[in-house]
Amino acid sequence: MSWNDKYEAVIGLEVHAQLATSSKLFCGDSTAFGAAPNTHISPITMGHPGTLPKTNKKAVEYAIRMGLACGCEIEKDNYFARKNYFYPDLPKGYQISQHTTPICKGGHVTIQTSDGERKVQLNRIHMEEDAGKSIHDLDEAFTCIDLNRAGTPLVEIVTEPDLFSADEAWQYVTEVRRLVRWIGICDGNMEEGSLRCDANVSIRLKGETKLGTKVEVKNLNSIRNVKKAIEYEIERMVALVEKGGTVQQQTRSFDATTDTTFAIRDKEEANDYRYFPDPDLAPFHLTDDFIQTVQSALPALPAELKKRYQSAYGLSAYDAAQLCDEKETTDYFTAVIRHTNQYKAVANWMLGPLRQYLNENGTNFGTLTLPAELLAELIKMVEDGKVNFSVASSKLLPALLAGEGSPMVIAEKMNLLQVSDSAELEAWVNGALESMPDKVAEYKKGKKGLIGLFVGEVKKRSQGKADPKMVTQLLEQKLNN
Ligand code: ADP
Ligand code: MG
Repeated sequence: MSWNDKYEAVIGLEVHAQLATSSKLFCGDSTAFGAAPNTHISPITMGHPGTLPKTNKKAVEYAIRMGLACGCEIEKDNYFARKNYFYPDLPKGYQISQHTTPICKGGHVTIQTSDGERKVQLNRIHMEEDAGKSIHDLDEAFTCIDLNRAGTPLVEIVTEPDLFSADEAWQYVTEVRRLVRWIGICDGNMEEGSLRCDANVSIRLKGETKLGTKVEVKNLNSIRNVKKAIEYEIERMVALVEKGGTVQQQTRSFDATTDTTFAIRDKEEANDYRYFPDPDLAPFHLTDDFIQTVQSALPALPAELKKRYQSAYGLSAYDAAQLCDEKETTDYFTAVIRHTNQYKAVANWMLGPLRQYLNENGTNFGTLTLPAELLAELIKMVEDGKVNFSVASSKLLPALLAGEGSPMVIAEKMNLLQVSDSAELEAWVNGALESMPDKVAEYKKGKKGLIGLFVGEVKKRSQGKADPKMVTQLLEQKLNN
């Protein structure tokens, strides 16, 4: 019997996403990653007495964008609160966060599971500022502090305890990353810490409705680590409970070198952060107009597009999902189908030869320089039988990508156009038949399958330029007389 016949895992995730604004949440300091330590720290970031924070409107707009993309209810009457605690990377001695009025409430993120689509319920999305960074491995004796990150705007996206396996958590974080990139509010770069995840994990007996005691694994910085940490925690808790032990409410950390977690502190009681409304920041009210403006600037979302690609363009679920993997891919597809209605062919070209080319060059459709109309023209040439697909993808495409001109011009220059001129075709066909008199005799006795061999021979003689439909017709004419 495996553990999941007896127990069920319950998971809630808190994802911190750094908003892609150029300045901080409450002042003009740059948010650029990788600057020399402690160079983006004005007196406001440092919380010096007498300084006045001012809310970054773009950050508010980004938070609303995320809320609308997740179907949340948007809170119109907002204020910021101080969450007081001491930590060396927190220059002010408090973090400015939202307390009783998260800007977005409810909502969901749709994930793909083995049983189809499922909506993961969100509890809230709130705004807050990031802390600085403690660097432990730079100096032997001291911990170094870099406060550049302090004050960077974040949204914290908090789910209900509504995920039930490490795989679902993997799917969820993947989807959140896709979404924040799609709507342009966060670069989703987990290695640089733009997206970080805390995983809350508990187990309970199957059929039990009460939640078990949870542990919280902090600061997971890759999707892989989210999955590994949850897998480890579930196993650890099941083994513990099976031995008669009880799970302690704890905060834990993940060690990526061993794929295990370890306790960093026990959680006895709720911390008292002495929250109160920040007296330096006026409450902010969102008008319907402002929310409506943000709504109308939202791009079509991947879930919606996936459905449209199948219903309106007749694409397979697989192709639709691939085209909706990144917004850059969708944008390119949209640009190409302005010039052609060969939707399936566009998908095939994009997901076949073009993606292979982009992968080899470590780039994506966002940097593809091939103009959409030239790809559409190439597709039309194949459709019209002017070039065959294999010649088009192996010879024409590389020249197109090298910027050598329009596909027609290149095809003429490289002598790749299929020949439908009947005199030339006839010469190839005659030549082929004369070179294989025995096979011709066999064909005439009834071995009709040999037609493929003759077509192949003509193809060879024409170096792929003979239109195969016309060749077959011509061959049949000659052989059946
Ligand atoms: P805390 O006050 O410890 O931060 P919250 O109630 O705010 O706890 O929840 C934080 C996250 O933990 C949320 O994503 C929530 O869904 C999740 N969570 C809460 N209780 C459990 C539980 N028993 N098992 C798994 N996840 C839980
Ligand atoms: Mg928490």
